[in-house]
Amino acid sequence: LSAIILDGRETSNRIKEQLKIEIERKSIRKPKLVSIIVGNNPDADVYVRNKSRACEKLGILFEKCTFPENITEKEIVNVISSLNENSEIDGIIIEMPLPKHINANLLASTVDLSKDVDCMNPSNLGKLFIGNPIFIPSTVLSIMTILDSYSIELEGKYAVIIGRSNIVGKPAILQLLSKNATVTSCHSKTKNIREITKQADILIAAIGKPRFVDSTYIKSGAIVIDVGVNSIGDTIVGDVNFEDVKETAAYLTPVPGGIGLLTTTMLLSNTIKAFNLHI
Ligand code: NAP
Repeated sequence: LSAIILDGRETSNRIKEQLKIEIERKSIRKPKLVSIIVGNNPDADVYVRNKSRACEKLGILFEKCTFPENITEKEIVNVISSLNENSEIDGIIIEMPLPKHINANLLASTVDLSKDVDCMNPSNLGKLFIGNPIFIPSTVLSIMTILDSYSIELEGKYAVIIGRSNIVGKPAILQLLSKNATVTSCHSKTKNIREITKQADILIAAIGKPRFVDSTYIKSGAIVIDVGVNSIGDTIVGDVNFEDVKETAAYLTPVPGGIGLLTTTMLLSNTIKAFNLHI
């Protein structure tokens, strides 16, 4: 058995084509996304450059707002408030991590709900919780979209997620539940993790540990989604040991070229959703 590769690039290209057509059809104005970076944040710089390029290709305006490390919380809150009021702006993202003196939750709570394309505002997460979201966090949307593109049915399936972060693991639980999967969440304090993951029809790894999941974690014929993005020297590897798992899994996302690649596209999809709410 060799797994079918869930190709993030192909899915991403198809969605980008649809988004491009949608943007071209609307002549009122162009959608606009603003990214806020505070202090020295080289990781965010790379992500922001990728977002900027992706926006440009689709005809979405992109603006990077960079602030010095010593800016006060109040000053950034004021910046966000004025972006909220600007009717030419559709999406606002706050790049993490933030300097220690700035409360990320406070900033996220300031972003207008209809512009919160990264779904960081606790009120938007609350809407997700009750099953009535405006936006779904882009990484989770990417997971759901790739499963859907390969017509993978979720109802009645047993899904196990390793990782319980607010941006990936927890919202993924809610989305899988909304599709009638049965869901278990595992984390660093879970005992006998393999006994749990080996039952999974769908295993999602969002851990941040290079090649953590090998074939001993997997049931034969499972669907394996690798969210991890880990740098080893110049290479990027996932949380799943791809070479080892590909003989056991039925479907598998590669890293790179899987979830990460699609996530930027899903952020743009959320931006177009916001644009449609504003025009
Ligand atoms: P995070 O906030 O660091 O959370 C990691 C989670 O993994 C935590 O819940 C942690 O458990 C769990 N964990 C750590 N070690 C474990 C172990 N030995 N056994 C079981 N669980 C363990 O990370 P994140 O932000 O969710 O990101 C996870 C990975 O996805 C990273 O590689 C990140 O770069 C990547 N990522 C990718 C995208 C994308 O678009 N592809 C987007 C976001 C993140 P505790 O809660 O008990 O500490």
